[in-house]
Amino acid sequence: MSQTSSMGSTEVLALPERKKERNSSRDFLSVKDVPSRTLSVERKASQQQWNRGNITEGKIPHIRMDNGAAIEEIYTFGRVLGQGSFGLVVEATNKETETKWAIKKVNKEKAGSSAVKLLEREVNILKSVRHEHIIHLEQVFETPKKMYLVMELCEDGELKKILDRKGHFSENETRWIIQSLASAIVYLHNKDIVHRDLKLENIMVKSSFIDANNEMRLNIKVTDFGLAVKKQGRSEAMMQTTCGTPIYMAPEVINAHDYSQQCDIWSIGVIMYMLLCGDPPFMASSEEKLFELIRKGELRFEDPVWDSVSENAKSVLRQLTKVDPAHRITAKELLDSQWLTGNTLASGRPYNVLEMMKEWKNNPESDEENTADEKTYWSIQEKLKNYHLKGNAHDANDSSDGEEGKQSPTSHKKATANIVDTCHSTCTSASTSSRLLPADLKGEAEKTPATAGQGTAAKVTAKSTVQPKTKKKL
Ligand code: ADP
Repeated sequence: MSQTSSMGSTEVLALPERKKERNSSRDFLSVKDVPSRTLSVERKASQQQWNRGNITEGKIPHIRMDNGAAIEEIYTFGRVLGQGSFGLVVEATNKETETKWAIKKVNKEKAGSSAVKLLEREVNILKSVRHEHIIHLEQVFETPKKMYLVMELCEDGELKKILDRKGHFSENETRWIIQSLASAIVYLHNKDIVHRDLKLENIMVKSSFIDANNEMRLNIKVTDFGLAVKKQGRSEAMMQTTCGTPIYMAPEVINAHDYSQQCDIWSIGVIMYMLLCGDPPFMASSEEKLFELIRKGELRFEDPVWDSVSENAKSVLRQLTKVDPAHRITAKELLDSQWLTGNTLASGRPYNVLEMMKEWKNNPESDEENTADEKTYWSIQEKLKNYHLKGNAHDANDSSDGEEGKQSPTSHKKATANIVDTCHSTCTSASTSSRLLPADLKGEAEKTPATAGQGTAAKVTAKSTVQPKTKKKL
């Protein structure tokens, strides 16, 4: 368990003799220090607004103790918020500050070693991040048997449940959600962290309100970093593990090709599509058929719900779900896109540099017509230069000559592969809506179901058909 405190944390060992003087110890002080940071988060929520800037990263206390009795002295435990894979998530109020938290309790023995590995991965990543749209881990308590993760409380629950109740979101509501999500993913990708399991169920809602136009404003938080990885070495490091949740999985992940952080972008595309219409873009009666659809990557906008969605939004969706990850826009490009910023200068333009090259190649004269287009051309040249400098470039001719939407299996192999996650698995037993685990964790996870029907095994072997759900309005 020593790894759990290896990244950006303040390790505090609560020895028995120190435990007696807990009230005056530094350990306890670190617990009491909570309010100053908490209040700023809470205040923002109560004012129903949230800034887009990053919160300064801080040390996360990791307190080791003999047993959990001390935790009961600090917190009053309240309602159960949910059942996690490895234990309950319970609302808890700090007795001193009266601040409410969500505490994830995990029985390490019952969960099994692979579950604990997932948890350690999650804890390590959460300790190293601080962003307003990423769930904040306040501190960790650990006893020989249990682990307690004290996290910020998301009063409004899962985004998935709000979507199920509402049927679908308006374009504006979707834009605000995607803006927050994109900003969190830009932050993660800048830190070389790839989430690998972005989905509606892993987006929690801290607070929400209805604005003057009767539209819903949600303060979202990305959660569940169990499958996340921090790429090591060069920024173009590739991964090969097939993991994630099938309906959200990018083609390069299901094909077990080398893949990069662009797999998260595909998942954002799936999430955005679902927010706008309520259903997943790719649905099939079996995993095999689902993967076939994902490999083709053809989005359908036939349902009448799409009539009120702008061409711009549909274009963003197509950019997010380009089958070739090299042609897919990046998180930063998404954040800067006209659909999100409202900046009309780049209207109708592709965002991805290879897409821009393709357009320019097909119609070079059009770029000589006005200065704005010249600027675009030079911006393309700049971007392309950077792209090459990063060592991430694919042969522009090679990529742009290919038929749009077709996978170019070798394209990513051109980049230097510095494989972080060496396990390479194809988990054929998994369902389309449940999560695939990396091979190193999968075996034991399947053998070790956690608590009542919600264990990892359940996640891997749940129902294998994705059905459209009934749409209900709030
Ligand atoms: P696991 O990843 O182990 O399956 P989760 O982190 O998804 O567990 O938590 C299980 C459930 O607990 C979630 O579906 C959600 O309903 C609830 N929950 C988790 N974290 C929070 C939180 N920070 N605030 C409120 N509810 C939460």
